[in-house]
Amino acid sequence: MSSERSSVKELAAVKGTHDILPGEVEVWQAVEASVVGMFGRYGYRELRAPVIEHTELFEKSTGETTDVVQKEMYTFIDKGGRSITLRPEYTPSVARAIVEHRLDLLGTPMRYFYIGPMFRYDKPQKGRYRQFHQIDIEVFGEKDPAIDAEIIEMADSMLVSLGVTGTETLVNSVGCRACRPAFSQALREAAGGVKDGLCGDCRRKMETNPLRIFDCKVEACREQAKVFPQITGFLCPECRDHFAGVRRYLDLYGVAYRVEPNLVRGLDYYTKTAFEVVRLDAGQQNAVLGGGRYDDMMKDFGGPDVCGIGFACGLERLIALVSVKPSPRRFVYVVHSGEAARAKAVELARIFRRGGVETLVEFAGRGFKSQFGRAAKLGAAWVLVVGEDEVAKGEFLLKDMATGTQTSGKAEDLLSSLQRPG
Ligand SMILES: [Zn+2]
Ligand SMILES: [Zn+2]
Repeated sequence: MSSERSSVKELAAVKGTHDILPGEVEVWQAVEASVVGMFGRYGYRELRAPVIEHTELFEKSTGETTDVVQKEMYTFIDKGGRSITLRPEYTPSVARAIVEHRLDLLGTPMRYFYIGPMFRYDKPQKGRYRQFHQIDIEVFGEKDPAIDAEIIEMADSMLVSLGVTGTETLVNSVGCRACRPAFSQALREAAGGVKDGLCGDCRRKMETNPLRIFDCKVEACREQAKVFPQITGFLCPECRDHFAGVRRYLDLYGVAYRVEPNLVRGLDYYTKTAFEVVRLDAGQQNAVLGGGRYDDMMKDFGGPDVCGIGFACGLERLIALVSVKPSPRRFVYVVHSGEAARAKAVELARIFRRGGVETLVEFAGRGFKSQFGRAAKLGAAWVLVVGEDEVAKGEFLLKDMATGTQTSGKAEDLLSSLQRPG
């Protein structure tokens, strides 16, 4: 380690991470409060799992051949020699918690939501971070296609309530363990035919997990994939009926959607329904949120045979699209002059805060003029003046900084005037 003093660069946030500063954080809080309220109305409860999990959890559930597990995980060996991973997504943690605490015994369906940071060692780019934040919802123990549609409808309502416009909802069925192998084989053959036109990564995926070719971002591969066979023709009767049911309920809910046969999502555990809400930004289609059904995940953990479905929504991206105006900060700044007034100022601040009003006290003890200047600079909505005369009279002066209106009165009366809405 260098003995020199750290430079500012060394003290910068870790590459791919970002601070959410006051001024922005109010938008985050407003969005979070809005979605938490909405999830509550659909019967979801919060489940907070740890940020770290055993690496094996993601290898087993997210899938060993996915890009997330192969390239993007923050994995380290802890002091006890265990392989630990900073969660790259939330669903496996919820499934693990359900199995561990046997939450399924409390009755199904189980509806959970969570908001928090996820970690992926991805190439940082505009709007994409290595520590990013997700809204995540999951339903376990509900097989009926009505729930698939309800979740998509909830995602739709969430975006509408946040003022996100210009989105399109894409749905597909990715089949199940009964029907997907035949599709994978057909894909493998189609990819094999145009092998030389595919990137090295896709040539590898062709052998291990051909569905993942659809995730490739290389333009040449995307072009080839357009003419590959589509899953729709391979669905077994159960998957076909389920997908028809999802679409029927979406119509009932009045949700606009488009069937996108190449939508497979980048994770291995999806079965049947997969969906995404996308938005066209600068000519490029980007997912605002995405999810799907994962009926085998729990069973694969050695847990109960409980099906699941959910979606995740990246908050950084969502925040950039919302038109949410957080309510402006309104606070009282208490200025004072003299020892007795200073003591009174502190006492008044306590009374006002207990009364639900944000209140700050000047401590630098300068003249009234510079105290007023400071109040204005900080953006105080009101200034409460506490001078020697005011202390003697027990009546104080409250100045509205926007209008210049001054009101004189007892502390309780001034407080109740501030507590009145509007
Ligand atoms: Zn099937
Ligand atoms: Zn490729």
